[in-house]
Amino acid sequence: MSESTPRPWRVMKFGGVSVADPARWTTIAELARQRLKSGDRVLIVHSALAGVSNALEALPQAALNGRGDAEATAIKDRHRAFAAEAGLDADQALADLFDTLDRLTAGIALVGEASPRVRAELLSLGELMASRLGLACLEAEGLTPHALDARTALTATDPGRDARAYLDNVVADGADPDLSAQLEGAELALTQGFIARNARGETVLLGRGGSDTSAAYFAAKLEADELEIWTDVPGLFSADPRLTDGARMLKALTYQEAQEIATMGGKVLHPRAVGPVRRAGVKLSVRSTLRPELEGTAISANPGDDAPRLKAVSVKTGVKLVVIEGANMWRQAGFLADMFACFKACGVSVDLVSTSQTNVTVSLDPDPGLDEARLKALREALAPLARVTIIDNAEAVSLLGSGIRRILHQLAPALEMFQDKPIRLVSQAANDLNFTVVVDEDQGKALAARLHEELISSAHEGPVFGPSWAALTAAPKTTPHRSAPWWHARRDALLDRAPQTGGRYVYDLETITARASAVAGLTSLSRAFYAMKANNHPEVLKTVREAGLGFECVSPGEIARLKSVFDDLKPEEVLFTPNFAHRSEYEDAVAFGSWLTIDGLHPLEAWPEVFKGAKVILRVNPDRPRGHHDHVKTAGPKAKFGIPLSDLKAAKAAADAAGATVIGLHAHAGSGVTESNHWREIGAVLAKAAETFPDVTILNVGGGLGVPESFDAPVLDLKAVDDDLAALKKAHPGYDIWMEPGRYPVAEAGVLLAPVTQIKTAFGARFIGLGTGMNSLIRPALYGARHEMVNLTRLDQPATGLASIVGPICESADLLGADRLMPETHEGDVILISETGAYGAVMASRYNLREPADEAVI
Ligand code: ASP
Ligand code: MG
Repeated sequence: MSESTPRPWRVMKFGGVSVADPARWTTIAELARQRLKSGDRVLIVHSALAGVSNALEALPQAALNGRGDAEATAIKDRHRAFAAEAGLDADQALADLFDTLDRLTAGIALVGEASPRVRAELLSLGELMASRLGLACLEAEGLTPHALDARTALTATDPGRDARAYLDNVVADGADPDLSAQLEGAELALTQGFIARNARGETVLLGRGGSDTSAAYFAAKLEADELEIWTDVPGLFSADPRLTDGARMLKALTYQEAQEIATMGGKVLHPRAVGPVRRAGVKLSVRSTLRPELEGTAISANPGDDAPRLKAVSVKTGVKLVVIEGANMWRQAGFLADMFACFKACGVSVDLVSTSQTNVTVSLDPDPGLDEARLKALREALAPLARVTIIDNAEAVSLLGSGIRRILHQLAPALEMFQDKPIRLVSQAANDLNFTVVVDEDQGKALAARLHEELISSAHEGPVFGPSWAALTAAPKTTPHRSAPWWHARRDALLDRAPQTGGRYVYDLETITARASAVAGLTSLSRAFYAMKANNHPEVLKTVREAGLGFECVSPGEIARLKSVFDDLKPEEVLFTPNFAHRSEYEDAVAFGSWLTIDGLHPLEAWPEVFKGAKVILRVNPDRPRGHHDHVKTAGPKAKFGIPLSDLKAAKAAADAAGATVIGLHAHAGSGVTESNHWREIGAVLAKAAETFPDVTILNVGGGLGVPESFDAPVLDLKAVDDDLAALKKAHPGYDIWMEPGRYPVAEAGVLLAPVTQIKTAFGARFIGLGTGMNSLIRPALYGARHEMVNLTRLDQPATGLASIVGPICESADLLGADRLMPETHEGDVILISETGAYGAVMASRYNLREPADEAVI
């Protein structure tokens, strides 16, 4: 880079709530300072104080009603209060602007109307007053911002004199050397959003909410590094949080997706702001001044993860449908032209269209201007062409995400609810971003919520989906969400046991006893079998058994392990659930006399003699995948597990022919489930299926009891699970309910300890290297699982920044945790990785010929 290369600009836009009081400007100053420090120049673009634009917009009407003075005084008082808090005198600092406010208000009352030009001038005062106050706040913070009047930089394109030209204008974008020259030498500048001037030098506006657009123009003109939109919500969300508080923060989007989401509703980002930054290739992020530590939504051309995915769901209510039916349109050139001409003539704007040979359906967006008279005119104009029906209050559910076409099949289960209700219109935008279904009144929200729940709510937190709205807004609990993890109290003992090289799993048997007993104590369960694939350490097995659990085994090796640990093992303590296993494994199990689950037709049909006289349980595929990651979902059309519900009759016939008795049905839909009613739902599916099996007395509702992935994640409410199962039992009293938890009894009991080997800083990012990695713990690489990790040596020291925690294996996927807040960390410190008691050691490998972590109990 040559000496003369100017430092890049970063444009930061702060909305009404973010500038509403002097304390907020302290945050703004701090954020600006950080960016200046990292070498950027900063342009701050801001809105009027929260609520002021609305008050100014209402002022003309108040003036006409004789209440102009009172309302103007209220607006002034709002700024006086701000100024007083900042130690300023508003009447002095804003004297000229207050005068203009009074003059315009009086003028409107006098003339008896407010022209668009006057209204624009009035509204611009909100931003101009805020700018004065903001400038003073930044100066008080010791900064020296250059004050830029936005009207000297942004010229609106529309030369007209109507309302649109004054109140809702646009500006040409593209690099602007004049602006760069105007800001030459400035490190930090402050300007207003929302306002511009026209060719005649008059003040014009960029439409309500237009500060975002201003900031986008500035970013494009200055060819900025990045545009940061700071608002009061931490980014764009996968749904309106009022529809579902499971709505997830979206961490990365393409410009097109962001544009689409902005247009669909949510007022977080003005849709017009995306175009200028997209054309200029400026990165865009949306963040919250109330939660500046959150990274928010990053919008760019290539957000990294480009897998086709449903990213957001929205519902529009109050949609009108015009259904045009008639035989005349078939092979009629120009029918659509004639039809649309009627819409044009009546001034009705069309949103979606779908056509068939005899039916054209169009949807009309909710529009207050679309009154009965206009609709009547439309109906009359169309009457000669075809039969017309207008359906009111339809609801349009839009699904959004790049490559939406490739995931449409996933919508099938949610669309089932329309088996006996009409879907009025389906439209799939040619840009492959948006798929919309229009349904009747009150159906849209239910559908949207269902789709969100099925396809987004439980998606794993990763590069695309961040935390849910519920998690972000959860009131800080007075008592901690869960009690402090056991290892806090055992820190010294753990540090003593920490290895010098490699890694070591340590299991706390007391925690296992507590968790296993909690499951064993569920009153509505008849039996629980611990899925020992999660952890087969002998001491763990003993502890689980003492707590009263049986064992679920998936291989002869696991049964052999049990036999070697327990001399007195009884067959009925074992539930054998193999998958695609060799015939001999079933023969052995029958001979041993354990419970046996069959999960396909093949064993019964191909080797009937093996099961003669045997009692078997059938594993059913309940079609309802659940879980925190695709690889742990074990039901649904893609899973290799279980017998599809539609094949149960054939399974019954095969069992009968073999002379086997089906005494139970089982299903397991996935793991990491935290909704308490999940097992009740599974049980209801099984109870329904059991109607075909007179001898069934056992409903095994599987496992998958969720273990929290972070310190503040929701915990599964075991009591609620029990209550739900009690309801199941009440509805289906004839059955024993079984469960087979795996992770739940052991996950939290285990920690992986590893010493820090090296620290590296590269491209500004910090890496902390450990003695062991994916060879000991493969869950992050395999499932994208998240494990909390701490520097156990420096547990009490404050975090100083983010770091990626990596192992020594030669794979980029050897990343145990990305972007974790860590204290200053040194070689030899001990890092503790929590919740690793399940699927940790059992999945370890000797990849790279590095010995995985050994195991110890405490
Ligand atoms: N203050 C203007 C409005 O409320 C512009 C903005 O805040 O984006 O519409
Ligand atoms: Mg806004």
